[in-house]
Amino acid sequence: TRSTRPQRLLAAVQKNATRGDPRSVVRAIDQFCRHKEWAMNVGDEKGCILDSVVSEANPTYVLELGTYCGYSTVRIASLLSPNSKLITVEFNPEYAKIARQVIAWAGLQDKIHLVEGASGDLIPKMQEMFGVKTFDLVFLDHWKDRYLPDTKLMEKCGLLRKGSILLADNVICPGTPDYLEYIRNSPQYESQYFKSHLEYTKVEDGLEKSVFLG
Ligand code: SAM
Ligand code: MG
Repeated sequence: TRSTRPQRLLAAVQKNATRGDPRSVVRAIDQFCRHKEWAMNVGDEKGCILDSVVSEANPTYVLELGTYCGYSTVRIASLLSPNSKLITVEFNPEYAKIARQVIAWAGLQDKIHLVEGASGDLIPKMQEMFGVKTFDLVFLDHWKDRYLPDTKLMEKCGLLRKGSILLADNVICPGTPDYLEYIRNSPQYESQYFKSHLEYTKVEDGLEKSVFLG
């Protein structure tokens, strides 16, 4: 049977990245996606913006919605301080299986909990599952029509504190109009757009960083 794109992406990591070196894993995936097959990772250009937001926030608890093959997971986790944790949520078991291997190749399995399931089911269980009170940073990068309902669900579940940061990918392409409208107009958030390009293309896209004011 033919291999899938995530399987080929993993094979590229195993061939070209050094075990235990997260940046070489990131490089190998970018190389594969730029020159062989496009894939829906946040990518190198927006990835630099993601890195700077993570570094500046220096978060203890991070939630990622949408793991796919673990590219952004590795990027984020490689920047976390000791004792910090990244919980990442993925509902496609095939992608989750690949992501676990990518994360292990990067040597980051001790910093990351990959949870399989739908965000809407898992968000209300985060506190009992992981003993987290609130998240310092949330990276939203799952299906675009889920950004808004899941943000409201996180608010309802008390997962955001004053100063928590939401960082949303693909707010222009494919676009998340209802989320942008909400987050830019709500007095509960201070929001800022970082202009960039859709992963591995020249099409405009960007990240929206929104600080919860409580
Ligand atoms: N963050 C990844 C990166 O930059 O490397 C890319 C994530 S990809 C754009 C979106 C992923 O979210 C897909 O793997 C999809 O299966 C998953 N997904 C979409 N909706 C979801 C939901 N409601 N709950 C859990 N996973 C979801
Ligand atoms: Mg994305």
